[in-house]
Amino acid sequence: MKNVKGTKDILPDESPLWQRLESTFRTMPALFGYKEIRTPIFESTDLFKRGVGEGTDIVGKEMYSFSKSEDGESLTLRPELTASVARAVMQYNLIRHYPTLRLWYYGPCFRYEQPQQGRQRQFHQVGAECMGTTNPEADAEVIILANSILKNCDISDYKLNINSVGDTETRAVYKKVLVDFLNDNLSKLSEDAQKRLATNPLRTLDSKDARDREVVKNAPSILDYLNSESKEKFEQLQTLLTASGVSFEINSRLVRGLDYYSNTVFEFITDKLGSQDALGGGGRYDNLTALLGGNPIPGVGFALGVERLILLAQQNEQPAEAKAQVMIVSEQAFNGIVFNIANTLRAQGISIVTDLQQRSFKSQFKDADKSGVKSVIVIGENEAAQQAVTIKNMVSGAQHENVDYANIVTVLQEILNG
Ligand code: AMP
Repeated sequence: MKNVKGTKDILPDESPLWQRLESTFRTMPALFGYKEIRTPIFESTDLFKRGVGEGTDIVGKEMYSFSKSEDGESLTLRPELTASVARAVMQYNLIRHYPTLRLWYYGPCFRYEQPQQGRQRQFHQVGAECMGTTNPEADAEVIILANSILKNCDISDYKLNINSVGDTETRAVYKKVLVDFLNDNLSKLSEDAQKRLATNPLRTLDSKDARDREVVKNAPSILDYLNSESKEKFEQLQTLLTASGVSFEINSRLVRGLDYYSNTVFEFITDKLGSQDALGGGGRYDNLTALLGGNPIPGVGFALGVERLILLAQQNEQPAEAKAQVMIVSEQAFNGIVFNIANTLRAQGISIVTDLQQRSFKSQFKDADKSGVKSVIVIGENEAAQQAVTIKNMVSGAQHENVDYANIVTVLQEILNG
């Protein structure tokens, strides 16, 4: 049997790189005061319909939905996490405890898309949400956090694009202007864009279809329609990013298509991954909790696609192998001693492997050579009789004989640190 199309196994040789990135996902948000939230992998379909929006590709085409609940309610494997986080924030009234709520998350997401390099049906996102304020300081903070995660994953081949899609008032005015413009060019647009005209015209601005791109080159820019409040917020964001040394480009065509965005939107893009060029993105979603039926709670956040970060990080480094530090070579008769010593050393934080196959001394030593352990503990008849071990330094070749059980740790630490 094989894994399902669009999914990937992360094999043992690949997992050290994943673990290295995952440790950055934990440490960076903590430096900014963000706490981890873990929500279920499936939610009510209605959450995503309302939170992500019926007019989006995600909801229209890509959701893994099924009905397996007592009341026949439709459930969906999460295609993203912002809607789930917003649901949890409302459900537990988390904002009551923290007027500025800083949360981060990491986990698998599911979208029924055509798989290709950097695009899977099960993929991972790491992201953060800052809720409770409409101030552009929060927008700047999440962008700087995302940027810090990328940098600390040793990823540098990317650019940050930012834009403002304005507030509801701005968008209402701009949408009319845009729809008029698109109607004037209707026959030149892709079928999808034509269909979307009534539901999600803004999405055509960052369509990947060459026909749409050609048309929107001449479309009116939303930045010319920002009201004074949205304009001021966008300018403040730029000032804060510049003061923080984060370089960015303004891309007035960037809208990120989800229904819930307002004012700030941004995306990190790379030219190193072919057509799947977005490493991640995000924006402000002051209307999301109201769309979900709750009180309005302003928020801003981002999600980065972990598979794409891994692809870039792989281009930059050879993954380090996770190796045991020590191996015990012994005769089967002494397995009781072997297990005892191995467990004692592990409790001291030394990683150690033992032979499980009752093989000859010679084969065990061959294994030790091949595996690259730094030290081997030998327990033969002589050693067992003297209640001691022989310890070999595999780097220098030096040998310590007659080491009492009580002294094993000291000798090993000298070798491992040397
Ligand atoms: P989105 O919020 O849809 O822009 O997703 C945020 C990020 O998740 C994207 O920029 C990608 O890096 C990543 N992503 C989205 N969909 C997929 C997918 N099907 N496979 C791999 N990564 C994805």
